Amino acid sequence: MSKFLTSTGTDFINSASNSALTMMTSYKVAPTPQNYHLWYTHAAQSDFELSKTLENVITKKVPFNDDLNDKLYEKFFSQEKELKAVSETGAKFQKEVAKIVSIIKDVGEDTSNHSKALAEHVDTISDFEGAEELKAVIKLILDDTDKIKQQSEKLENKLVESTERIKGLQVNLDNARLESRTDALTNIGNRKYFNEQLEELMEKYKSEHQEFCLIICDIDYFKKFNDTFGHQVGDQVLKVVAHVIKNEAQDVGFPARYGGEEFAILLPNTGTDGGAIIAEMIRKIISQRTIKNRATGVNFGKITMSFGIATIHGNEPASDLIERADEALYLAKQNGRNRVQSELDLIGEHKPVAVKASA
Ligand code: GH3
Ligand code: MG
Ligand code: MG
Repeated sequence: MSKFLTSTGTDFINSASNSALTMMTSYKVAPTPQNYHLWYTHAAQSDFELSKTLENVITKKVPFNDDLNDKLYEKFFSQEKELKAVSETGAKFQKEVAKIVSIIKDVGEDTSNHSKALAEHVDTISDFEGAEELKAVIKLILDDTDKIKQQSEKLENKLVESTERIKGLQVNLDNARLESRTDALTNIGNRKYFNEQLEELMEKYKSEHQEFCLIICDIDYFKKFNDTFGHQVGDQVLKVVAHVIKNEAQDVGFPARYGGEEFAILLPNTGTDGGAIIAEMIRKIISQRTIKNRATGVNFGKITMSFGIATIHGNEPASDLIERADEALYLAKQNGRNRVQSELDLIGEHKPVAVKASA
C-alpha cells in the first residue's frame, strides 16, 4: 500500500479527494458515495458549518456509525437540491476507487514477483553451513508475503464490488434526475427541464455570445377536445402533439411542455429565421394529423397549433425573451391561429399583445 502514498499514487489523486479518503479511512467511515460527498466537501473546505460539525464530532471521539453518517448527510444536503451533486460525486468516487484498485493490482503483482524471486533464491542456497535455518526463515517470509498477497486480493475484490454498487446507484440517481425533468403524461421535458436549459443557454449567451431562439406554441381550441370528447381524448391530443414536437426538435434543440397545452422549444445557435423553419415544419405535420378512436372509428378531428418565435437580444433578461415569444404567439392566435409569427411581425404593431382571441 505504500505505493499509494508515494509520488506515483498522489500524482493522479487530487489533494481534496486524497485527504477525504485518508480521513474516511482513519475515522473508519464507511465508503459510500454519500459519506464521500460529505468528507470531500469538508476536505475541499467548501462548507464552513459542515467542517465545524465534523471537527466537533472528531474531537469528541464519537464513532461515525451509519446512523450518525445519515444524520450528518441529511443535515447538510437536502435530497432534491443535492441529487445532481451526489450523482457527480458518485462518478468521482468511482474513479478514485478504480485508481485504488489499479494501485492494489500493481502492489499485488510486485508482491507476487518478490515472492517468486525469493523462492528462486531459496533454491540457490544449498550446501553452506546454516543453509537449513536460513531456508526456514525465508519460508516464513514467503508465507507472510503470501498472506499479504491474499489480503490485497481480498481488498481488490471488495473495492471492485463497491465500484459496481456505486455504478448501480449512479444509474438510479441519473434515472431519478431524468424522471424529475420529464412530463409524466407526454414523456417530453417538463417546465423544470425548460428552465434549466434556458438558464444554460443564457449563460452561454452572456459568456460566449452564442445566440439562441425560443418557440412557444399552443394547441388551438384545445378546450373543445376536452369539452366534446372528454379529458382522455384531450390527453391523447397532448401526447400526439408532444410526440411530433419531440421527434422534430430533439436533435436540434430542447423541446419541453411549458404548461397545460403549451409547449416550448429552445434552439441553440439559431435565430428567428431558423426557428421559423422548424416551427413551420412542426405546424404542418400537426395540421395533417387527425386523431381517431381506434375501437369505434370515431374521428376527433384535426389538431392545429399556433407558434410564436423570439431571439435573444442585447442584455435583456430571459423573461423579456419569453414575453416576446408569447406576444408573437398571441399575434398568431389573433391572426386566425394555425400559423407561425415571430418577433419581427410585432414591429409596427401598435399593441401586439392586446387581447387573446377568444375561441
Ligand atoms: P386557444 O386556441 O385560444 O389556445 O384556446 P384553447 O381552448 O386551446 O385554450 P384555453 O386556455 O381556453 O384552454 C386550455 C385547456 O387545456 C384548459 C385546460 O383544462 C386544458 N388542459 C390543461 N392541461 C391539460 C391536461 O393535462 N389534460 C387535458 N385533458 N386538458 C388539459
Ligand atoms: Mg390553446
Ligand atoms: Mg394555452
